[in-house]
Amino acid sequence: MNSTPQLTKKNVALEVRNLRVVFHTYAGVVKAIDGVNLTVHSKELLGLVGESGSGKSVTALAIAGLLPENAEVLEGEVLLRGKDLLKQSKKELRMARLTDIALVFQDPMTYLNPVMTIGTQITEIFTGNLKIYKDELIQSRLDQIENELRQETDPKKISKLNEEKTKLEIKKQNSSGISKKEGKRLAKLLAIEYLKLVKLPEPERVFKMYPFELSGGMRQRAMIAMALVRRPAVLLADEITTALDVTVQAQILKLIKELRDKVDAAIILITHDLGIVAETCDRVAVMYAGNIVEEGDVIEIFKNPLHPYTVGLFGAVPRPDIEKENLEPVPGSVPDLINPPSGCRFHPRCPKAFERCPKSKPPLIEYKPGHKVACFLYGG
Ligand code: SF4
Repeated sequence: MNSTPQLTKKNVALEVRNLRVVFHTYAGVVKAIDGVNLTVHSKELLGLVGESGSGKSVTALAIAGLLPENAEVLEGEVLLRGKDLLKQSKKELRMARLTDIALVFQDPMTYLNPVMTIGTQITEIFTGNLKIYKDELIQSRLDQIENELRQETDPKKISKLNEEKTKLEIKKQNSSGISKKEGKRLAKLLAIEYLKLVKLPEPERVFKMYPFELSGGMRQRAMIAMALVRRPAVLLADEITTALDVTVQAQILKLIKELRDKVDAAIILITHDLGIVAETCDRVAVMYAGNIVEEGDVIEIFKNPLHPYTVGLFGAVPRPDIEKENLEPVPGSVPDLINPPSGCRFHPRCPKAFERCPKSKPPLIEYKPGHKVACFLYGG
């Protein structure tokens, strides 16, 4: 487990405030997200955990502006760099998705284009939007040149690098764009750098390969490279290791942890697996039936779970630090969100429910610094 990076108001990357989302279906209105509040900071790995149907993925889609047509945001704010994404025009939202938010999903094959090489798929992000990425492409190459100059000893190569540096600096000052050919060259160099960053062996070769030529783990690494190459403020990773075997899963999680330290992005890791949260995340938010029911530092929550649902979740997974004779799953199942239970949505399954629980919804309160819980047993 990790220690939480220093969190201040300053390095907040994303803030979700009182988000409420419903889906209009033939069967009725599904009250999927019921007032979610969430804050995630730069260089922080936040685990969003819960059973399927708890609202984790809907929260991610709402953040990314990718909710399906039958969804309706009733209320709330998704603040990114101080701007509410929910109030932005389609064009502004597209821009935010291009530059600030990136997603990685469980099955990369669904999102990778099977008839395009990995390299083309990465470089296309830039060459299709050269006006937006001109400065970034030039700056990335200038940073690469600085690194290369630090290591280079051959005077001829040093002079060539300096020449390229001067030309790029002039282009950077110039208000006109860069040619498509130059954009492609810079994008290729950047793509290979990111394929290296995600530890793909022989990145130059992978650049020329098609998705079907890569293994599941390599495809997932390529997807992560594609997501990070735009230097997003927030990376949403939804069940990214579920389809992988245990060894590859461990490698991908190790990579995500390393990337947390290398890139400035806030990473939200969506999973139903508490083991992954314990191994990888700094903080955890536990979701149940469209609500965050507990949130805090991973070590604190694992040592001292408060909400009866979190306690139940921990009772359902084997833990090396606790000896248990029987693993007890949380009794019952996630409620029907067309007619969700009144008050605390967990009350029909809660072993500690009392008179007040079905009558009103417990607010998420700060039980102690860095540990929030939504349960009347702890106040509210
Ligand atoms: Fe259980 Fe009541 Fe707490 Fe909900 S508020 S978790 S029903 S004790």
